[in-house]
Amino acid sequence: MPEPWDDDAPQTQARAEALEEDWAGGSCLLPGRPDPCLVVILGASGDLTQRKLIPALYNLHRHGGLPETFGILGAARTEWSDQEFRAHLRQAVLEADGGDSGPWETFAQRLFYQPLVYDDLHSYHELAKRLDKLDRKLGCRGNRVFNLAIPPTLYTQVALNLGRAGLAAEGQTGSPAGGQPGGNWVRLVVEKPFGHDLASARQLNAAIGRFFHERQVFRIDHYLAKQTVQNVLMLRFANAIFEPVWNRNYIDHVSIVSTETLGVEHRAGYYERAGVIRDMFQNHMLQLLSMVAMEPPSLFFAERVRDEKTKTFRSLRPFPLDRMDDYLVLGQYQEGQIQGRPVVGYRQEPGVAPDSLAPTFALMKVYIDNWRWQGVPFVLVSGKRLARKLTRMVIHFKEVPHSLFRQVLGPHISANRLILGVHPEEAISLTFQSKNPGARLCLRSVNMFFDFNRDYAGPRLEAYEKALLDCMVGEQMLFWRQDGIELTWAWLDELIQQCETCQPRQERIRPYPAGTWGPEEVWRVLDRLPAPWS
Ligand code: NDP
Repeated sequence: MPEPWDDDAPQTQARAEALEEDWAGGSCLLPGRPDPCLVVILGASGDLTQRKLIPALYNLHRHGGLPETFGILGAARTEWSDQEFRAHLRQAVLEADGGDSGPWETFAQRLFYQPLVYDDLHSYHELAKRLDKLDRKLGCRGNRVFNLAIPPTLYTQVALNLGRAGLAAEGQTGSPAGGQPGGNWVRLVVEKPFGHDLASARQLNAAIGRFFHERQVFRIDHYLAKQTVQNVLMLRFANAIFEPVWNRNYIDHVSIVSTETLGVEHRAGYYERAGVIRDMFQNHMLQLLSMVAMEPPSLFFAERVRDEKTKTFRSLRPFPLDRMDDYLVLGQYQEGQIQGRPVVGYRQEPGVAPDSLAPTFALMKVYIDNWRWQGVPFVLVSGKRLARKLTRMVIHFKEVPHSLFRQVLGPHISANRLILGVHPEEAISLTFQSKNPGARLCLRSVNMFFDFNRDYAGPRLEAYEKALLDCMVGEQMLFWRQDGIELTWAWLDELIQQCETCQPRQERIRPYPAGTWGPEEVWRVLDRLPAPWS
């Protein structure tokens, strides 16, 4: 049976041709101007809009990345006028911009607001009328990006109501601005978390699929929009020297780390239900893993790349539920010190239950059952209130098969490591052994280091800027596809259920002091492997 994205070959082809034209144009920062469009932010009174979406759109505006004709319509229950919405956002944007209000004035003229009651269909018809009016005023040709910046519990209801109000429809050449060849386009951006488990992710996909085609749906993972994460595929597939050694014959293990010093902050309501596995592993950690582990796609097109990621997710070895302690450590932070400052434990955070068992730390050892990776452990670590904010993927190569220096240096020579840094260092470094200058034979580990930003002085695209721009140009490569979402939930579901139902559950959640690298039990899972953060 064909998959929903198999119908999208014509779009993929059109996108490929557009990409070829862009590359011929030689611009690295921006892929040319997107079509005129309206960006509609649902939940526009919230945190994500103020901290991420509007600053990203504003920066795109400053760099000439938005369409020449564009508008941004915020919608939420809060009763604001256009002016009130602009005033609300001005501060956030200008703080980020260092106070230069010049471009803000032209940007603000394109900001509009419409109150919306999420469960009232009539309210969506009013929204549709307002959008038609703005289309006529601005000339956006009926092209629209709907961004769901609302709590995840509202995704289904809002997606269905958009569809019922006719707002998902594409290809209407009679769109308010008089239409365009091929008609208008409509895209739906869905924030994380996409579902709470496999069943809810399937329900959400089904609800969205009632009115939106898969090609219209952009399930965001802002990690993928980070330049250094995208660069993993360039490093692997645009260089001849890495791929021949990128397999079980040469690689001992891979570690993928994404840790933070922050605690739960203001997100306790969400985090109490989610915990670290849902919050970080189902999405970001598995996307990072797929970037390192996927097979080379035949072409650098969204569907070909996402096909290969899907194959990787399909190959994840199920966890042996009767031996979970050998593969997984969960933890929860206690009071401690972050950068010399005392901080409270998770259970003392506002909004957190005093007997909460939500895990704030996980380390898991994962295997991929395919030809390339058989037997190679992938160690994934993520958590809050840890010693350092760090995001990186490290390829640990095998030791030399035989040390001819063993009489002088002993049997072990440190193995090579390729470090793909995302934060704080956006860098690639390769460690190798070198002779110390001098008469005696002494080896030392040295680094070949490439700073991703070296010799590049131009403006940069931050993750949300890239993600929003890709939505506007219809490029889905950096977004989750339906099958990937469902496969990763399917893989994690049993593990999460086991962790949440095992008795006594508190024994599974190990305490760790804030400011450390997690519970002591990590060493049992790591066994012979080094600390992934060192
Ligand atoms: P908020 O909690 O700030 O909610 C956004 C808006 O939704 C609110 O301003 C409110 O607007 C409306 N709202 C909130 N709660 C309810 C409710 N119970 N019923 C109806 N409406 C409600 O969310 P964020 O902006 O933080 O996040 C939006 C989405 O983005 C979420 O799905 C989140 O998981 C995701 N996300 C957020 C990140 C962030 O940094 N904030 C990071 C990554 C993902 P009003 O009352 O005016 O209708």
